[in-house]
Amino acid sequence: MKKYISLSVKCPFCGKSLMDGDELLHGEPTIKLNIQTRESRGIIHLCSIYECFDYKTEVALTEKEVVEFVCPHCNKELNTKDVCRICHAPMVSLLLKTGGRVSLCSRTGCANHYVAFEDLSTELQKFYEKYEI
Ligand SMILES: [Zn+2]
Ligand SMILES: [Zn+2]
Repeated sequence: MKKYISLSVKCPFCGKSLMDGDELLHGEPTIKLNIQTRESRGIIHLCSIYECFDYKTEVALTEKEVVEFVCPHCNKELNTKDVCRICHAPMVSLLLKTGGRVSLCSRTGCANHYVAFEDLSTELQKFYEKYEI
């Protein structure tokens, strides 16, 4: 089986967990967020595995469309002023429960997302211990 890192995130504004243990992708809890497009709004479940881009949503998404991500708890917009270095769409920023943050591109189909740890050595150490990468 492939080794992977499953991310656990919370809202940077209200601090509430964004993890949904009832909706799984690849056997892991998903990241549950509200989204808004030009035509509709709804819920999206993002795969929590780092570098996996799978998601499920009932909202009809157009390829290459920029989506507005909103916290389901406090309704704050999670899109930031940081722009994607690949497609220049706003980046979405979430806090990791272990410290640090994860950023992902708000454009559908763009594979840009990255994790910035506050303390890389301890965070990676934890992952190594847990997942034996
Ligand atoms: Zn919130
Ligand atoms: Zn992008």
